[in-house]
Parts: sequence; C-alpha cells; structure tokens
Amino acid sequence: MTKQTLVRPARTLKSTRPFIPDLVYFEPGALEYPKGKQIMDFVTTRGIEYRMTTSHNRITNLPGETEQEKYRIAKRTLVVGVRKTLTFDQSKPSADYAIPISTGCMGHCHYCYLQTTLGAKPYIRVYVNTDQILSKAKEYIEERAPQITTFEAACTSDPVGLEHITGSLQELIQFMANEEFGRLRFVTKFHHVWPLLDIKHNNHTRIRFSINSDYVIRQFEPATSRFDERIDAAAKIAHAGYPLGFIIAPIIWYDGWEKGYAELLERLAKALPSDVTDGLTFEMIQHRFTKTAKNVIEKRYPKSKLEMDIAKRKQKWGRWGQYKYVYPNEQQTALREFITERIFEYFPMAKIDYFT
Ligand code: SF4
Repeated sequence: MTKQTLVRPARTLKSTRPFIPDLVYFEPGALEYPKGKQIMDFVTTRGIEYRMTTSHNRITNLPGETEQEKYRIAKRTLVVGVRKTLTFDQSKPSADYAIPISTGCMGHCHYCYLQTTLGAKPYIRVYVNTDQILSKAKEYIEERAPQITTFEAACTSDPVGLEHITGSLQELIQFMANEEFGRLRFVTKFHHVWPLLDIKHNNHTRIRFSINSDYVIRQFEPATSRFDERIDAAAKIAHAGYPLGFIIAPIIWYDGWEKGYAELLERLAKALPSDVTDGLTFEMIQHRFTKTAKNVIEKRYPKSKLEMDIAKRKQKWGRWGQYKYVYPNEQQTALREFITERIFEYFPMAKIDYFT
C-alpha cells in the first residue's frame, strides 16, 4: 500500500453574515412610509415573525425567561417606528450633531456603552421617516452656514449592520453629497458596505472603521465582523473614493498590548492600498467605564475578561453626571505615545483627531 500524504484543505473562516432579526415589531404608523413597507416586505419574504406595537418606545412583551435571555433576544429583535423627536443631540468630539436613524445594535461588545445608555430598551430600533429627519438636518446646516455642520450617524447604533434592511445610510450619504455645508460621518464594526459602494457621495461622508488588536476583537467583540473583514471593507470604501478613518477603541491595557497594537497598525498598512493613506484620520479612545456600566457588564457577560478594577484606574468626572474610570496618567501616556508612533510609522500623512 502506498503511503499517501494527507493534504488538509486550507481552513477558511466563515464570513460574518448580515443581521437577520428573529422577531420584528412595527408601529402601525411606520407602514404609512415607503421604508416601513419595504421593511415589511423584507420581513414577510423571509418568513420572519412580526408583531404590531403601539409605540417603539414601549415594547413590553419581549420573550425570554431571565434578564439575560431577554437581553439576548432583544439584541435580535428589530422595532420599526417613526422618529418623533426631531431635535438632534450634540455629538462632541466626533461631530456637531447626532443624526437619528437607528438605536441599538446586534453586536455583543462587552464594553459597549449602549448597555447603559439604552437601559431597558436594548432592542434595535430603526426609523422610517428619513425625509423628516433630513429636513431637520437641512435646517441645522442652514442655521450654521457657511460654517460646515457635521452629523454623526452612529452615536446610538451601528447603522452599517442594518443598511441591508433600511437603506437609510444611502439616503443620508446622497443627501449630504448635495449639501455644500453639510458633512456626514459614521463608524462601524461591520463589513457589509456593498450598498454604499456605487452611490454619489461627493466626498462629504467620512466612513470610519472601529478597529482593535486581534486579542481585543476576539475577546470582547462577539457578533461583529472580524478584523480582516473590516479591513477588506475599509479598502473597498477607500476605492469608492470616500474619506476614510479609523477609530481605535477601546484601547485596552493587557499583557502584550504593545505587540497587539503594533501588529494592528502593521496589518492595516499591509492591507490598505498605498494610495488611500492621504487624508486618513485616526481617533483613539482609551477604555473607560462607570460603576453603573461595570455592574451591568458583570451581569450580562459574567465570564468576560474585561478588566474593570476601580483601584487600578483614575477617576474622571464625566459629563453625564457620573464618575468614569480611565487609565492612570502614566498608562494613558504610554498607550497614546506608543500607538501614535506606530500610526505615523505606517501612515506618515495621517491625521490624529484626538486621544481621549
Ligand atoms: S458594534 Fe458598536 S454599537 Fe454594536 S455592540 Fe459593539 S460597540 Fe456597541
């Protein structure tokens, strides 16, 4: 018998699939809008269970026995409603205003601040009255012209992960393309950018990818796109001519962080086409938490390795009327200097917007 060498096929990682909710709620008023009807088509053609609700603010009968189960189910539940509050919140330091097209997210990042800001409403809400939202954006732009007004579309959600269902980012991007004094920006951990590649943007939208060291992504960011998928999507976005940026957040101090963040920048430089580095921006946000967030995270992700030891942190007064815990000055400086150096080593033309 001849000895045969077994050649194992190369292991291919499965692509992160676009989000399909398990359950959808509709406000009856939402079905009067084209986007509401379009989402209903999306739901019925896929046989997804749906229910009607009187208000997107009050979903009281979510399934699930325990708090944890309810939370998991809520993260796979979509609520389709009409946005009534058309006053936009401020969104510093990233932009002038938050433009509301969705809230909530299907990702399970352990540290995510939506866990506390969305409180008892962790389900995903999308708004169908985009025309009214855009009219309000136009008012803000006109008030401030000729100053540029920037809008952040990802303050309370990750809208790229919902774009195949709503199409809202396409509308925002195309609207902003025609606004001399308006700019749009959003950030994502998802790679599902294909609906955005062939539309007119006029360089008025900056798309940023949230990236991190491989360790942080694997440990703390379940149910989001993998590092390679995000980088691949970033290259596509760059080829489509959009201004591009990266948010390194949360920057986490762990054994081996220097190696992890050095590798991150090296891999980024290898993956991106060389001509995209002009105008590239980086934002850096160190990990922080409040006592409220720590309690919630420990309940929802009890096995998480996320370090939240108050004794090892520096207390800082937060603008939401609560102390937050950041790294002590020495660690902050070490993180900021090391990562900044790596950024400029690989991307000498890049601009660092802030470290916070
Ligand atoms: S992808 Fe962003 S919004 Fe979604 S859970 Fe993760 S950190 Fe939160």
